[in-house]
Amino acid sequence: MLKFRQALKIVLGDTKPMGWEWVSLSRAHRRVLAEDVIAQNNIPYTDNSAMDGYAVNTGDLKSALQELPVVGVVACGKSVNKRLKRGEAMAIMTGAPIPAGCNSVVPVEDTEVVSSGIVRILRKIEPGKNVRYSGEDVRKGEVVLNRGTAVGAAELGMLASVGRKRARVFQKPVVAILITGNEIIEPGERLRPGKVRDINTFSLCGLVEKFGGVPLPLGIAGDEKVKLLRKMRKGLNSDVMIISGGVSMGKFDFVRAALTSLGYRERFWKVAMKPGMPISFGHIGRMPVFGLPGNPVSSMISFLEFVRPLMMKLVDRAIDLPEISALLKTPIVKKDNKRHFLRVKLDYRNHRYFASLTGPQGSGILKSMIECDGIAVIPENAESLKVGDRVTVQLVV
Ligand code: AMP
Ligand code: MG
Repeated sequence: MLKFRQALKIVLGDTKPMGWEWVSLSRAHRRVLAEDVIAQNNIPYTDNSAMDGYAVNTGDLKSALQELPVVGVVACGKSVNKRLKRGEAMAIMTGAPIPAGCNSVVPVEDTEVVSSGIVRILRKIEPGKNVRYSGEDVRKGEVVLNRGTAVGAAELGMLASVGRKRARVFQKPVVAILITGNEIIEPGERLRPGKVRDINTFSLCGLVEKFGGVPLPLGIAGDEKVKLLRKMRKGLNSDVMIISGGVSMGKFDFVRAALTSLGYRERFWKVAMKPGMPISFGHIGRMPVFGLPGNPVSSMISFLEFVRPLMMKLVDRAIDLPEISALLKTPIVKKDNKRHFLRVKLDYRNHRYFASLTGPQGSGILKSMIECDGIAVIPENAESLKVGDRVTVQLVV
């Protein structure tokens, strides 16, 4: 059976990035930059004071308790024309430009006013103290944000700081989600024998949004080929299509056949992984299509391990989830050559992470995804693991 790594390589294979659009700064949050953002100015623009205090030249502070005449006030928001002459001080506010001739700012706390127009410096100060230099945050011409960066609070602030009113961002991929299964009913319906409420529309839509896409739920198609085809056609203009369920070996698993009649070129079916084994992947035209197994946990894990990386690649983002190494608190039984993805809860004690399974790990046990901090990845060649063995855990942040 196809190894997980090879399957992922096929999925990422010939993915081209999405197109881009301009958005105003107020709409840029959680979008992904499609440009390198370059600063047009030094930030700060000019040297300025980091404290409320007195602008001085440290060369003048010979003795302790030096007294200096205060020859002016530098306020915020204006440029300063006056030059500080030797032996003088100027009152200065936080953020106000440093006058020529000044090389240090003595904080107010370290001074006392002797009489009107005379300040006494109570503490020795080195040159360069409490001065914020032009360009110490950002240099003119510097790339401050790289293409492929997800715009969060700090990035919004940086865009504003370098004077951007809008940003060039990748279009959000539209991900169509079609549910199959004659047993599936809407969440609002009463449970009856043989029926199961639709979980995957909601968990998959949540995942699509979480990773920057626009979910397009196509509803529940049942298991008849005609209905499948009708609903599938509605997803053909999307950027990615996901069909949930109907890709296993069951008598009514018609998804792959239905897809084929729409021109589906399947690249693989079945991957040596658990959960998620019967996943199918291919293309209709240029659109990537995933047939994800219907079990709610399989569906989520195969999304996280295959669809999420593809979505990252579509917007030039880093593909791998952050990983940590943890010590097992629960033993793991493994007797096959598949890659296992186990849901774990993490705790951190004595400078180490410990991972415990989130209860039973069956692919229908949705509870195992609740309170899950990460996914422990057990490689193909690993065998059963004991308490205290090391595992790699992907952080699903
Ligand atoms: P399938 O992949 O179609 O063979 O489905 C595998 C299992 O997942 C079956 O027990 C289905 O009832 C269940 N299942 C499939 N789709 C969903 C869904 N949307 N919500 C909840 N359970 C589902
Ligand atoms: Mg089914």
